[in-house]
Amino acid sequence: MNIHEYQAKELLRRHDVAVPHGCVAFTPEEAAQAARNLGGPIWVVKSQIHAGGRGAGRFAGDTSGKGGVRVVKSIDDVRTNAAQMLGATLVTKQTGPAGREVRRLYIEEGCDIARELYLGMLIDRATSRITIMASTEGGMEIEEVAARTPEKILKVAIDPASGIQPFHARRLAFGLGLTGKQIGAATRFILSAYRAFTELDASIVEINPLVVTGSGDVMALDAKFSFDDNALFRHPDVEAMRDESEEDPAENEAAKHALNYVRLDGNIGCMVNGAGLAMATMDIIKLYGGEPANFLDVGGGATRERVTAAFRLILADPKVEGILVNIFGGIMRCDVIAEGVVAAAREVDLTVPLVVRLEGTNVDLGKTILRDSGLPIVSASHLADAAEKVVAAVRANQKKGGK
Ligand code: ADP
Ligand code: MG
Repeated sequence: MNIHEYQAKELLRRHDVAVPHGCVAFTPEEAAQAARNLGGPIWVVKSQIHAGGRGAGRFAGDTSGKGGVRVVKSIDDVRTNAAQMLGATLVTKQTGPAGREVRRLYIEEGCDIARELYLGMLIDRATSRITIMASTEGGMEIEEVAARTPEKILKVAIDPASGIQPFHARRLAFGLGLTGKQIGAATRFILSAYRAFTELDASIVEINPLVVTGSGDVMALDAKFSFDDNALFRHPDVEAMRDESEEDPAENEAAKHALNYVRLDGNIGCMVNGAGLAMATMDIIKLYGGEPANFLDVGGGATRERVTAAFRLILADPKVEGILVNIFGGIMRCDVIAEGVVAAAREVDLTVPLVVRLEGTNVDLGKTILRDSGLPIVSASHLADAAEKVVAAVRANQKKGGK
C-alpha cells in the first residue's frame, strides 16, 4: 500500500525525522487558512497524488507551464494556485498520459535549500537485508542516476538482526560530502528514518530530495512510503491512511473477493489457482507470442462465486480479447470448477474466446461438463496446448476484425 507525501511526512515526524511544517488542504480556503497558520513569507503548494515527478508534471489542458509543486509568496497566491490545482488532472512521468486528478494539496513552508540529496531504503530480497541508498543527485529519479552514473549511488546494507549502527549512517553522511554539524544532523536523520522503516513494516521509503538547508539542517522535502500489505494488520493507523481513490478499482474489487489480481498490459486474461501456476501460465502465454492482461490467482478454494467474480474482473478490462483458465484440481475437484466456469460464463455473457485447461481430481467429468455446456469453450489438455490455443483464438478473431 502507498500513501500520500503529507501522510508519509506525518509518520516521519512521529519518528523524530526532520520535515518542514505543513498542513493538508482539500479546498482553496483550507489552503489559505493553512498558509496563514504556518506563517510566511514563502509557501509551497504541493499536489498530493500517489505518483512522483509532480514538480516537473503539467496539468492537462493548462498551458501556463506551471507544475504540480508551486512556490508562492502570498496567501492570495496560495488560494489561487490551490483553486487551479484542485480537481485538475496532473500528468507526470509516473502517472502515464492519463494523469491523476488532484484531490488534496499539501501546503508547506518554503525551505531554504542549499543542497538536494537522495535517500532511499528498501528490502533487498536477494541479500535479505535492508539496503540504504544515498546520492548527491537529489531531485533526479534514482533509476536515471543508476542508469547513467551508477558510481554516484552509495549503498549500505543493514542486517536486520543487528540493526543500523551509527557508523552506517556516518559512512553515508561522509559519502554525501557533508561537513561540520550537517554530519550529526544527517546521522540522526538516517537512524530515525531506519527506525521508522522497520517499526512501520515499510517495504520502501524514498526521500527525494533530502535537503541540506542554508543553516545546515537536514530534512525531508519529499517522502514516499510503501508498506508490506501483509503487515498492515499490525498498523491500523497506517491502514487508515489508505486513499482508495488513488488505487486501481479493479484491484480493490479483487481484494474484496480475496482474489490476488494485478492488472498488466496485454490482452489475454488469465484465471489460475495458485500463484506459482499463475506465474507459469503468464510465462507460457508469452512463450507462444501472447501478452497476459493480468495476473489472477483465485486461490485454493475456487468457488462458483469467486470464479464468477474473477470473470467479471477480467472482462471489465477493455483490453481483454481472450481468456485462459488454468486450474489444477487438487483440493478442489475439477467437476466443481467446471460447473463454476460454465455458470460464470453464462452469467457474464462471455464475448471473447475462452480456453480452459483442467487437471487433477475428476478431470474427465470436468471436461464433460465443459463440452456439454453448449458454450463455445475450448478445452485444452496441457499448459502449452492451452497457451497455444488461446493465442491462436485471439489472433483469428483479430484477423476477422472482431473482438
Ligand atoms: P516531486 O518529486 O513529485 O516532483 P517534490 O516534493 O520532490 O515533488 O518537489 C519537487 C521540487 O520542489 C523539489 O525537488 C524541491 O526543489 C522543490 N520543493 C518541494 N518542497 C519544497 C519546499 N517545502 N520548499 C522549497 N522547495 C520545495
Ligand atoms: Mg521528489
